[in-house]
Amino acid sequence: MADSGYRVDLCEEELPRYFYNILPDLPEPLPMPLNPANGEPIKPEMLEPLFCKELIRQEFAEERFVKIPRELRELFLKIGRPRPLCRATRLERALKLPEDVRIFYKREDLSPVGSHKPNTALAQAYYATKAGVETLTTETGAGQWGSALAMACAFTGMKCKVYMVRVSYEQKPYRRMLMRMFGADVVASPSDTTEIGKKIRERFPDTPGSLGIAISEAVEVAAKDAKTNYSLGSVLNHVLMHQTMIGLETQKQLHKIDEKPDVIIGCVGGGSNFAGLAYPFIAKKLAGKSDCEFIAVEPDVVPSMTRGDYKYDFGDTGKLTPLLKMCTLGCEFIPPAIHAGGLRYHGCAPTLSLLVNKKIVRAMAYDQKETFEAGRLFARSEGIIPAPESNFAVKAAIDQALAAKQTKEGKTILFNLSGHGLLDLPGYHEMLGL
Ligand SMILES: *Cc1c(COP(=O)(O)O)cnc(C)c1O
Repeated sequence: MADSGYRVDLCEEELPRYFYNILPDLPEPLPMPLNPANGEPIKPEMLEPLFCKELIRQEFAEERFVKIPRELRELFLKIGRPRPLCRATRLERALKLPEDVRIFYKREDLSPVGSHKPNTALAQAYYATKAGVETLTTETGAGQWGSALAMACAFTGMKCKVYMVRVSYEQKPYRRMLMRMFGADVVASPSDTTEIGKKIRERFPDTPGSLGIAISEAVEVAAKDAKTNYSLGSVLNHVLMHQTMIGLETQKQLHKIDEKPDVIIGCVGGGSNFAGLAYPFIAKKLAGKSDCEFIAVEPDVVPSMTRGDYKYDFGDTGKLTPLLKMCTLGCEFIPPAIHAGGLRYHGCAPTLSLLVNKKIVRAMAYDQKETFEAGRLFARSEGIIPAPESNFAVKAAIDQALAAKQTKEGKTILFNLSGHGLLDLPGYHEMLGL
């Protein structure tokens, strides 16, 4: 056993060689996406105008493990994978926890753009280049996903066109600059470059834009050009599968220090960082080999898992996407302007929705103010300023630890630090009055 697990590293050879696909292990088959035109399950080929064949194959894959090609593994090494698992020793002390209540976190904040999103961005860009695609289009809100994809396209020599929600484009200049630094073409959405954008601008010249509109623009551009594909940063099965690198690494790290988590926590926008950490552990639970608990945390003002319906709904506001069975607040729900921009989505991933519905994953919600307080305590004790999104996981981890201290039961708590908040300091300023 290593010293204390202050920080557990893996060497290059220990980088996972396979992604984990949860589809064959789900307690019941995942409801198929439906074609809104006729209510029939969609055929995978129908997605070909938007995604390359390999990603479509992965979306519906039946095998439990999908091999990671060597070149893609090299890209993961380049962005600093495997990433450290850290024990929050100083936070534990600040909370005066007994020795048998422990908190660990996985450092996804250490990626070049500061979040877990490059894991799937690199994979998607890699498979698209192999398929001869020349340009990827996407949408971005605050810019975390856009900057991850911009970097991935720079690595693979592809063009990248990002539709950035107009209000963020204007108010959050740094990630816009980051994307351009990587060579991406960044357009404020709605724009005059698409039919749908023009229509919306004619009707609502002053609209601040929305993710729903930006998705519609990015999809329109990709659907019109054979060499252009669309790329999504969360929600879909293949995206969550790429993120399982996080949990597969963490399993090896915990094994090295002889620890077993009792509870695993992640914040949820579309579900990708939560799934990335939790799904390899959920596999064990579904196989009857673990009694770990899983907690998915969302903002109380975007309560898709805690208060939404489990039903078929569109993935976007423009109603262009197939219908997905998921926990949803309705595709017309307009999320309030909270600082955790990455958590402002009306639905959540179909696989995660099913696991929440089956009570394998417990969902909970917090008010953003209390999460910023938790983020400040974490920053002062661990030296890392979490992304506003990650603060929801930090808060839940702290609450779990304090509850265990109260009831005097030993507990090993693991959460995903999905990103850092260095470009979100204005949010901290507003919430905490810095
Ligand atoms: C985008 C983002 C999220 C939310 O997206 P998920 O797909 O639910 O993970 C969470 N944290 C950070 C730092 C993000 O950038």
